[in-house]
Amino acid sequence: MLANAMLAEDVAGHDRLARLAESLFHPTGVDGVYGRTGVYENIVEALAALISSHRPVRAEVMRFPPVMSRKHLERHGYLKSFPNLLGCVSCLGGTEREIRQVVDRFEGGEPWTDSLESADLVLSPAACYPVYPIVAMRGPVPAGGLIVDVASDCFRREPSRDIDRLQSFRMREFVCIGAPEAIQDFRLAWIERAKALAEDLGLPYRIEVASDPFFGRGGQIVAVSQMQQELKFELLIPVRSEEQPTACMSFNYHREHFGEIWDLATEDGAVAHTSCVAFGMDRLAVALFATHGAQPSDWPTAVRNVLKL
Ligand code: 5GP
Ligand code: ZN
Repeated sequence: MLANAMLAEDVAGHDRLARLAESLFHPTGVDGVYGRTGVYENIVEALAALISSHRPVRAEVMRFPPVMSRKHLERHGYLKSFPNLLGCVSCLGGTEREIRQVVDRFEGGEPWTDSLESADLVLSPAACYPVYPIVAMRGPVPAGGLIVDVASDCFRREPSRDIDRLQSFRMREFVCIGAPEAIQDFRLAWIERAKALAEDLGLPYRIEVASDPFFGRGGQIVAVSQMQQELKFELLIPVRSEEQPTACMSFNYHREHFGEIWDLATEDGAVAHTSCVAFGMDRLAVALFATHGAQPSDWPTAVRNVLKL
């Protein structure tokens, strides 16, 4: 496609999403952080129920708050891989007098945030992170694989005006922990199930090998190796344009990374491998609106039926 035509398509896609944003979201004054309308939230809830209906019967359900242990995230290696995306909780500490002094500075129009102290909490960047230490504490996992259904609000410091890139978004995941063969089977089966799900929802898609946005120049080497080993696949939907489709689901194989960090072992004593299938709930909802229109009452009957609307 000619560069000009491509540019025109990008601009058109951008304008269309900006109009959608006005009807689906309430502004909060911060890019990538939105209040949601009832119409939008109904779709997120319907999607969540649809995903639950595909939950493997033996999966254990865990739901997490939007914050997690800073120590655990440090141990995960997040600071090495994505330090630029991390959001940390910081609070005012000290005595009543000390806190009062900071508030007085604020009320006097002076800067005050340099008095904040970092807490033992970070904003969760992915829903599956809290699972590994919890499972590790219980002892060895069955070689056939333990499956956990997790969800949380996630935060990544990537301010953007595009509604398919939020700073605060919802993530649902099925996580599998076990022997390498079980993990590979799990991931392959879920890629097929996800394709069927996208088809049921009338969403055009393609599956591609992908990499995570590892930090810095060293990170580019890690990303290349991740792609060569096919450790990550994404289900991409043309939300904005065909040329720049949006990753709405991902299928990740962490190999022994989390197993080694948390001493996760299978029954025969081997290091457990892990994999997760992640559903970007907000991206999937935005993809539905971008594909079928702003009014769910006008969506194709088949899609409305699948979502039980
Ligand atoms: P991953 O860990 O693969 O980067 O993210 C898992 C899923 O979360 C992605 O496939 C995507 O659907 C969702 N996700 C990741 N980043 C964003 C974002 O910036 N905004 C939204 N709305 N969803 C995201
Ligand atoms: Zn995950």
